[in-house]
Amino acid sequence: MGSNANNIVIEAVPGSKYTAKTPDANGLINYTVEEDSVWRDLIQRQQPAVKGVACQEFVHGMELLNLPQDRIPQLAEVSEPLGHATGWGAAAVPALIPFTTFCNLLANKRFPCATFIRTREELNYLEEPDIFHEVFGHCTMLTNPSFAAFTETYGKLGLEAGDTERTFLERLYWFTVEFGLLQTPEGIRVYGGGILSSIGETQYACSSEPDLRPFDLVDVFRTPYRIDIMQPIYYVLENIEDLFKVAHMDLFSAMKKAEELGMFEPAFPPKEDAKSA
Ligand code: FE
Repeated sequence: MGSNANNIVIEAVPGSKYTAKTPDANGLINYTVEEDSVWRDLIQRQQPAVKGVACQEFVHGMELLNLPQDRIPQLAEVSEPLGHATGWGAAAVPALIPFTTFCNLLANKRFPCATFIRTREELNYLEEPDIFHEVFGHCTMLTNPSFAAFTETYGKLGLEAGDTERTFLERLYWFTVEFGLLQTPEGIRVYGGGILSSIGETQYACSSEPDLRPFDLVDVFRTPYRIDIMQPIYYVLENIEDLFKVAHMDLFSAMKKAEELGMFEPAFPPKEDAKSA
């Protein structure tokens, strides 16, 4: 196990249903047999499910991380191969953290990972990111240099953003890191961790249901989303290196243009109490 994890523990946002697991004096988190069995069931179901769906960068990342099959990994175990690949590490955080804290970690190449795991009742779906989502869905992709550089730059931009810009940036994150697709010679493949850590969305993403649109920064900024449904729209990049280019575009000008043009009509039904952005 590596010693480069240096995990950070940050205060939770009030209202979260789950509580963070606190590391012991040795920096290790003790999970219960039940929690380890939830991880086992999730990873053993998801690994075959993402075959032929996940992009090759994700598949390569899975090989590099070589995640345990029968128990929840310690974040230090994740940070070690991640550090070798791109200099990134995983940082322990509670369920949800403020945007500024989140961006500060990303800007320092630390990926915030909630340390709790979902309960068996929420095996298929939960709104809050748990350790399976963070590690399997996101840390895997962070072994890719272009994806890692994009995420780091995103954090730096987030620290400069005001409230309006932050909302645009959240949309960019949503339609790339969480729900991004790639056009490859083999067909459409997924790099978004929100899809690849969800059994339902993995199957749905390959169906003819979602509306696939070519990635366009201004369009992404104009697209509303809901966090509690399968995504009706995905944006497709030509290749993963384009993320690096996106990070170096004039994002703030693109936001101004999006603001002038206005938001697209939502491609989903309204829901009174839904969190949308
Ligand atoms: Fe996520």
